[in-house]
Amino acid sequence: MCGGENRKQLEPRLAAISGKSRVFCVLGHPIAHTMSPPMHNAALPAMGIDGVYVAFDVAPEQIGTAIEGLQALGVGGVNLTIPLKEAVIPHLDELSPEAAFIGAVNTVQFTKGRRIGHNTDARGFLASLRAAGAEPDGARVAILGAGGSARAIAVALARAGAELVLLNRTPERGAELADRINTHVRPCARTASLEESDLRRELSRADILVNTTSVGMSPHVDDAPLAPADALHAGLFVCDLIYNPLETRLLAAARERGARTLNGVGMLAHQGALALEIWTGQTPPVALMEATIRETLISRSQMNQLGPQQESASKNA
Ligand code: NAP
Repeated sequence: MCGGENRKQLEPRLAAISGKSRVFCVLGHPIAHTMSPPMHNAALPAMGIDGVYVAFDVAPEQIGTAIEGLQALGVGGVNLTIPLKEAVIPHLDELSPEAAFIGAVNTVQFTKGRRIGHNTDARGFLASLRAAGAEPDGARVAILGAGGSARAIAVALARAGAELVLLNRTPERGAELADRINTHVRPCARTASLEESDLRRELSRADILVNTTSVGMSPHVDDAPLAPADALHAGLFVCDLIYNPLETRLLAAARERGARTLNGVGMLAHQGALALEIWTGQTPPVALMEATIRETLISRSQMNQLGPQQESASKNA
């Protein structure tokens, strides 16, 4: 689908926005490249909901004012992305047990005058993993990174019965996450370093590898993956949370070694679908949301390759 077709599809919807339309949004800083508006604006009409989903760039020091304002405006629901997932917490009335444990909120629900924080990243990742045919129960999982998304994923995998090894650049952060999992979920997590010998040993033992770091993410697509290509093997299921590019260097190397692979599109679609379900009580069309993310990414990358002059010529066509 090209950008022009995207616009043609949207025009009747813009005309349909009325005084009764519900508004949903994502807040981030920066936010220009978010995939959330296209995927939610595809899902809302398919669910029969008169609504529109938009994005706002909000600096962390403004998050309290923003949430209060959105609640006053009667907004249907709010998503949060980097760097607001933790900053929003002091401005909420209540956290779901999952959000409280992970320490990050990606979805805010306004209900009965209260602001409730949820985290749908953990369940979103698990749903995408299972949809791709991988079962975490009893699996040995190596996780690269110990940041915000690693926290959500480690909790989800530990609850689902996996054995975890956390490999992080800053060892203390990895150890802290492992301790938290072992104390509060199940005694199933240990740590190793990112040194090549450790990586090779852990990868040779693992069933699933998850990259939760931003290494390989656009525009740094040529950066060397943390895992050496020849340490990947056909028995490994390799996941990269990155969705831009659709195939990172890590996933390409894994595919070449015969491993099954999964990019971050499925997680993005599932976490968005779970948020929509919290706000509306309806079941969202995940496959449509996933396809929309993929088409939007392809269309944007084609536009980038065209360059600004040809892009504007193509937009005018
Ligand atoms: P974060 O909290 O900043 O954590 C980043 C982690 O990556 C940290 O553990 C950091 O290690 C490690 N790291 C960063 N650069 C590194 C490098 N050059 N070498 C080794 N380790 C490095 O970020 P996040 O929120 O977890 O997000 C991470 C990635 O996940 C991003 O690419 C984001 O787009 C993606 N993501 C995708 C989805 C989805 O729905 N598909 C959802 C959330 C996030 P230190 O601890 O040593 O700093």
